[in-house]
Amino acid sequence: MRQGAPNRLVAEHLNIPRGTVGWWRSEDRKARGERYEQPTDCPNCTGREFDEIAYAYLLGLYLGDGHIVSKTKQHRLSIFCNATQTGLIAAAEEAMRKVMPLPNVSQRHKTGCVEVKSYTRHWTCMFPQHNPGKKHERPIVLEPWQQGIVDAHPWEFIRGLIHSDGCRITNWTTRIVAGEPKRYEYPRYFFTNVSDDIR
Ligand SMILES: [Zn+2]
Repeated sequence: MRQGAPNRLVAEHLNIPRGTVGWWRSEDRKARGERYEQPTDCPNCTGREFDEIAYAYLLGLYLGDGHIVSKTKQHRLSIFCNATQTGLIAAAEEAMRKVMPLPNVSQRHKTGCVEVKSYTRHWTCMFPQHNPGKKHERPIVLEPWQQGIVDAHPWEFIRGLIHSDGCRITNWTTRIVAGEPKRYEYPRYFFTNVSDDIR
């Protein structure tokens, strides 16, 4: 194993569960005082380029109705979507994968809603707005690099906000055109959020 054999191969060779091998490996690391760092593709920690359009959209989703869990053994970014809005669910998952392809992404279906989750502690690097407490009870200020992305891709950002905490309705009116009443329909977009900073 110290030569780099993956847990899976060792488990197959010895015919024991993979989890057992993982546990042995972590105990062995502990005994030798080694710390294991999970590999990451976090743009903040690796300095790599990332999809800023996907990020602008994801930032809107996160500020609207997303949240980050960051505890000792639990790290994830969660976006809650209405179960009927399947396009939105797919878009949320795609944006997570585009910003950080490495972490696992999963969907949890509950009554009427779907939680899209991506598991890594590095979402706190990408969303430094994460802090204890509710978003509307603390100041929300964008970092200069985030502001730059929002300025470059404002529509993607707004799209994320509307998708998470907004709605679209169709208004209509009638006008007389050439003596006949004619019906006109036009879309209206709403965004509601209790945080003054986010609004
Ligand atoms: Zn990071």
